[in-house]
Amino acid sequence: MLLVSAPIVGSEEKAVLAEVIDSGWLTMGDRVRAFEEAFATMHGAEDAVAVSSCTAALHLILQALGLGRGDEVLVPSLTFVATANAVCYVGATPVFVDIESMDVPLMSLTEAEARCTSRTKAVILVHFAGYLPDREAWRAFARRRGLLLIEDAAHAPGLKEAGTFGDAAAFSFYGNKNMTTAEGGAVLARDRTVRETIRRARAHGMTTTTHQRLDSRTPQYDVTMLGFNYRMDELRAAIGLVQLKQLQSWNGIRLALTSSYRRLIAQDCPSVQVPFSGYHLSTYHIMPVLLPAFVNRQNAIDYLRAAGVQTTIHYPPVHLLSLYRQLYPNLHLPRTEIFAERELTLPLHPRISTSMVEAIAARLAEVVREEANRGVAA
Ligand SMILES: *Cc1c(COP(=O)(O)O)cnc(C)c1O
Repeated sequence: MLLVSAPIVGSEEKAVLAEVIDSGWLTMGDRVRAFEEAFATMHGAEDAVAVSSCTAALHLILQALGLGRGDEVLVPSLTFVATANAVCYVGATPVFVDIESMDVPLMSLTEAEARCTSRTKAVILVHFAGYLPDREAWRAFARRRGLLLIEDAAHAPGLKEAGTFGDAAAFSFYGNKNMTTAEGGAVLARDRTVRETIRRARAHGMTTTTHQRLDSRTPQYDVTMLGFNYRMDELRAAIGLVQLKQLQSWNGIRLALTSSYRRLIAQDCPSVQVPFSGYHLSTYHIMPVLLPAFVNRQNAIDYLRAAGVQTTIHYPPVHLLSLYRQLYPNLHLPRTEIFAERELTLPLHPRISTSMVEAIAARLAEVVREEANRGVAA
């Protein structure tokens, strides 16, 4: 089965894991620090804080920026549930905003303006599929409204422009992302004080870490804030350091495969729409397409599966998930809902070859043709 995404790990990752085990020190230490420095450098940031997941990163960012009860945070609904959950963790209220269009399935700026109230304090932008929004327009909006600008950059590691235009950004290194540490995440934050708050809150709010106390004469520590255990460990950091070396070339392969998909779909099944037609700043994290209305999506999924091609859906809109449906029973986001009903995610990762893309596009064209004929017959 050709999978939608696959982690690329091998002998080098195995070797560094063995090194960590032989070193006798498994938890947060020098490798985590080295990984933070390497990740920050790649994004042209001053520093980074490595954490246990992107979800933890979002939680830490919202807490460090002082968001809490009574505050409203603008979020897209076309995202993974963690984006909205993190807002709830700090007691703030997620306010869901529709996407711009079928071609640009990123948060609509016009709609964001319309949803602002006196309680709106922040906006979380999600770089859906790896594509960056209009950075200047969002910065101007945040400035004008006095809002904090947060990036959920889970889909965008390795793109220099990602994670550095807002106040803070959260990255994911989960197994299906552009690079992986199995579980893992990172924070970039423009302000040094915010970064240091996050660094401390990641480890229970303690003034020193276990590793620092190894080399210190004083085993004492203090706790200065309510913190969490959101640490990364040396095993994950070691994998991350190996992965980082390949990330740019992997993102390059993703770009090339996306271009092939675009060309073949336009040629062989032009009724299938490929979003982000005019966008070039991307990590090409996933390959979303929109099926024409005459195609029954389940039939397409079954047809492709039978041909050995896995597909998925990005995303079931968060406001329609049972948990959020209860909280927002009457919320309707028409463009997000239509997009989510028609969307299909095709396999895209660096282990896929151009000829596999050709085969997948051919199978997609077949099922679209079959569905068109079925429509005519009926
Ligand atoms: C994967 C993902 C997350 C959560 O990342 P974890 O590292 O698994 O916590 C958050 N937001 C988006 C948009 C994601 O795709």
